Amino acid sequence: MAVTALGRGSYEVVGESDDAYLVDLPAGRCTCPDHRFRDERCKHVRRVAIEITAGRVPAPDQIAVDCERCGETMFTEHTAFEPYLCPSHELSVGDMVYDRETGQRLLVVGLSDRRADEVSISAARGTVADHYSNREYDADDPVVSVVYPDSFELTQHGPAPDSLTVYSFPRPRLTVTPS
Ligand SMILES: [Zn+2]
Ligand SMILES: [Zn+2]
Repeated sequence: MAVTALGRGSYEVVGESDDAYLVDLPAGRCTCPDHRFRDERCKHVRRVAIEITAGRVPAPDQIAVDCERCGETMFTEHTAFEPYLCPSHELSVGDMVYDRETGQRLLVVGLSDRRADEVSISAARGTVADHYSNREYDADDPVVSVVYPDSFELTQHGPAPDSLTVYSFPRPRLTVTPS
C-alpha cells in the first residue's frame, strides 16, 4: 500500500488493486467499506500509523518541507519558521543569509526566540513587527540579528565602527539562497 500525506491529518492510501481510500487520522476514519461497515480500524488506518512511526510520512501536526541548503525532505512542525533547514544546516551565528525583500546579503550575528512584537528597534520606531517593511510577516515570528557586511566602511583613519549597525529581522524574511 502506498501512503501519501495530503495535509491536516488526511492521507491517501492506494492498495495493490489500485483502490484509493482517504484516511482522516485524527478522526480515525477511512472511506473504505471495511471501515464503514465494521466498527474497527481498517488496514488503511493501521498502515498510515505504521508509515508515520517509520518516518516515511509526516504526522498530522507536521508538514513535509525541503531543507533550503541540501534539499533533503524532512518533516517539521506546522509551526516551524522559514527558512526551513535540516538539523545539520540549522541557522547559526556567522552564516550568510539574504533578505527576501531586497536580495541584500546579511551576516547573522545573533539568534533568538523572542517574537517580532517583543523586540524593539528604537523608542520612536517601535518593534520589529511594527516596521513598515515587515508588514508581510507575523508578529510571532522569531527575530534574527544581522549586519550588512557590504556596508562596512574602511576610512583613512581605519574601520568606521558605525558602518556595521546591528539590525533585527523576522526570521522568515531571511533565506540562505541568493536570489
Ligand atoms: Zn480503510
Ligand atoms: Zn540540509
